[in-house]
Amino acid sequence: MTGTSSTLDRDRLEKVKHHPCGKITARCPACHEEGHDRTGNHLVEFASGKFSCIADPAHTNRIWELVGIRDDVDPRERRRWNREEKERRRRERDRVRKMERAKSALPSLIEKWKWSPDEVRDDSPTQVDEYAHKPSVFISSLFSPFDLVWSGEVFQSGEAHSDRWRTVSAWSETPAEKIGPMITPSTWKGGTFSRRRENIMEAPFIVLDFDSIPTTGRAPETPEEKKRLACESLAITRWLREKCDWSLSAILWTGSKSLHVWFEMPPEDHLEALRESMTALGVDPSLIGRPEHPSRLPGMTHEKTGGLSRTLWLQR
Ligand SMILES: [Zn+2]
Repeated sequence: MTGTSSTLDRDRLEKVKHHPCGKITARCPACHEEGHDRTGNHLVEFASGKFSCIADPAHTNRIWELVGIRDDVDPRERRRWNREEKERRRRERDRVRKMERAKSALPSLIEKWKWSPDEVRDDSPTQVDEYAHKPSVFISSLFSPFDLVWSGEVFQSGEAHSDRWRTVSAWSETPAEKIGPMITPSTWKGGTFSRRRENIMEAPFIVLDFDSIPTTGRAPETPEEKKRLACESLAITRWLREKCDWSLSAILWTGSKSLHVWFEMPPEDHLEALRESMTALGVDPSLIGRPEHPSRLPGMTHEKTGGLSRTLWLQR
């Protein structure tokens, strides 16, 4: 590398600006792949060939990977990289477009698939008025009598807590105050005493956690906002059930600020498609595909708000 030649491939840089002092500025490709540097001036390359990102000095290596001129690289290899890079950008554009489409379609979807709490209650196969706060009814309607199911506090995992794994029939005989407050949407292998993924026997459910108002993306604070969150999440739930043919298993109000919707595990390809628009739908994507993750049971007092969690809809 000579002192005056560029070390970066100008053809692959965007928004290149030449400055009188000999330096150039351009969009930092590392910032850009994280969705930053819209203006396109984070990357500085000096006349000496030295370059850096003014927003994040740690970007140097990534910049080099993305747009560096590497003499030691076989041209075929470089072409392959370029193709992969193009493909990556195409996928990213696709993802953003899908998200935007989902977001703009959301208000009409919510209007069209409206599902009021009263209708939800009337539609529930299990009489929820009577069982809204009964964790054992919730458990036995979702699992089979011999399934091994975990229930307890989040920290109750490990050898000292092996009694938090019980069969569904054993949970049915457990006094309500000794159940919960959490459960996992999964069954566990015999002898399990740790809530690790490899100990899971089956993951029959997916739990969607609606913790922000889908159309605004904000967590609800006032009673009106909580109502709105419930209203919008229920509409999305009905849409998933009736339009996308997902099989609904349970709906639970957590007693604080979110609604949990239990569906039978949808086919993998559906899941993949939904994961893409998950954020736009107001669903916390971190819970998707994590059957070892604890989720709230009905009849539990929320530690922060004092609200009681309750079942809104439950399969028989
Ligand atoms: Zn950068």
